[in-house]
Amino acid sequence: MITFHINDSVRAFEAEIRYTLGLWAINQSHEIAFSPFRENSIVVGTQSEAHLRLGLRFPTPGEPATRSPYVQMDGTASDRFDHLTDPLASAFQMVNALQEYDAPEYDELNRYQFKTSYQKRLNNVYDNLVQKCFESISSKLKLPLKSTPTRFFLSHDIDIVYGAILEDGNNVIRKGRFDLFFKMLFNLAIARPEWLNMDKIMALESEYDCKSIFFWIVNKGRINSREENADYTFHSRPIQRHFDAVARQGFENGLHKSISSESFREELTKFGNAAYANRYHFLKFRLPDAWHDVESGGLKLDASLGFSAEMGFRNSYGLPFNPYDFKERRPFSFVEAPLNVMDRTFFQYKKQTAAEARVDIFDFFERNRNNCVLSVLWHNNFFTDHKFKGYVALYKDILAYISDNKFRTISAREITQHYTISP
Ligand SMILES: [Zn+2]
Repeated sequence: MITFHINDSVRAFEAEIRYTLGLWAINQSHEIAFSPFRENSIVVGTQSEAHLRLGLRFPTPGEPATRSPYVQMDGTASDRFDHLTDPLASAFQMVNALQEYDAPEYDELNRYQFKTSYQKRLNNVYDNLVQKCFESISSKLKLPLKSTPTRFFLSHDIDIVYGAILEDGNNVIRKGRFDLFFKMLFNLAIARPEWLNMDKIMALESEYDCKSIFFWIVNKGRINSREENADYTFHSRPIQRHFDAVARQGFENGLHKSISSESFREELTKFGNAAYANRYHFLKFRLPDAWHDVESGGLKLDASLGFSAEMGFRNSYGLPFNPYDFKERRPFSFVEAPLNVMDRTFFQYKKQTAAEARVDIFDFFERNRNNCVLSVLWHNNFFTDHKFKGYVALYKDILAYISDNKFRTISAREITQHYTISP
């Protein structure tokens, strides 16, 4: 047990300091406690004689200074980690994605954009910068660095199950493959659409001893030219059959929050089953509103914090965490498991072939073999080869990489068990 004493010099930020040390404790596998006395404690304060010396202030939302990753001892922001960096305040601001709270602009879907981030400006989106801050704290306290093998959190957002005939059909006709087109028509006629393929996905993952979660949309239909909810009716029999099969085989189901004005409560009522986890459809959310919504919806995990346009760490941290609620000055009770790798990033935003994506993805995995939960999203419609050529094979390679390296997958429930901060 490691006991900290937070002295008067930083009393104003006591709640934020306790929270960030709580994240550090999970990261470095320590049990911690706080004491009102300095004897036998690690003293936290601004004075040079403090064991853990902090800067003059903790960042708050909306400051321009949050657009740099590092907070310095004098309270200013910096793009470089050096001996004047306050590692605790820096970890706090990055982990909570404070740069997003008051962004200069948002995209056409009203989302925070990679192109305005410090990760883009400093070319460090593949780097686990918060890990570096936490290890710096351990080093200052002369504690050994703890390291654990990375685990993988695999997921499938189910947006489209009947569109195969439209998207892939077009593609096979252009290539003159009428044989495939008629097979698709046949599948549709007997109500077995190519993309209602959850059983295939689970069988494939099981070959590699992997598990995953499927996120479902409860609202159907097009909103406008850019935005569409599900192309299926969640309560229809074929969908419910697959939904049940997922749970029966020990995989997980979650809510894929639709683009609608409905609250989580309303969507969860339609969902009907006690939903545990959520991911926002189109990753369409804004901070901090989304985190307040997830909390009041009673969800235990959100899996949305990833850039659409780029792979990597949207909050520069490799592990799931409880975001900080600035209104209540305490952690939210749900866990955020950031999203790192998504098929559409490469196919749609970066317009890469599967072969090009493969190089980047495995480079990212190799850099982050330790101390991460890497979240990988492969949509169900990337499991047919006609339009998304090579992407099924790439996903199989990811599964083989996990299995060959003796990494393991982690479920949403295990994530909340392992990464929920102590009160
Ligand atoms: Zn979606």
